[in-house]
Amino acid sequence: MVSGRHIRIERKLGERDYYCRDLVSGNLAVTHVESPYLPVFREKGGYLEGDDQCHFLIRTTDGYACVVYNSRPVSCREFKCCRMRIYRGGKNLAGTIKGRRSLSTTDPDLEKFWNDRIRLLRIDEDGQWDMKVKTLLEDAGYNVELYTS
Ligand code: SF4
Repeated sequence: MVSGRHIRIERKLGERDYYCRDLVSGNLAVTHVESPYLPVFREKGGYLEGDDQCHFLIRTTDGYACVVYNSRPVSCREFKCCRMRIYRGGKNLAGTIKGRRSLSTTDPDLEKFWNDRIRLLRIDEDGQWDMKVKTLLEDAGYNVELYTS
């Protein structure tokens, strides 16, 4: 079965273990659903067929999380496409944060806010930085979706 754009499930090994083909690198990986995510993963029906979105991605109270993060396929480890999406006025996408901390936007207000308030933050730990940036952006009227690991 193929689900998501670059993962094919070759075999289900148990309730929480999947033998996966990484369609980008061609490598095989055994992915393991991590304990904290097992209840919500079960609730959504496990790994389903079809759909463009990888079914190991779940929505959490803080944003999104990969339920197999520590055993995720190689191409997932090497490519983090987006860690945060920033919206203005509901669902109008104003910008994304890619890689570790790079803003991609065509919104001059967001770019100015980023340069004035966020670029110079001195927080090394990524989780703390994510939460601080989310709070600053929300206080400034943006909506934020955070993709956590
Ligand atoms: S990082 Fe996790 S959720 Fe994202 S595509 Fe890879 S396995 Fe799926």
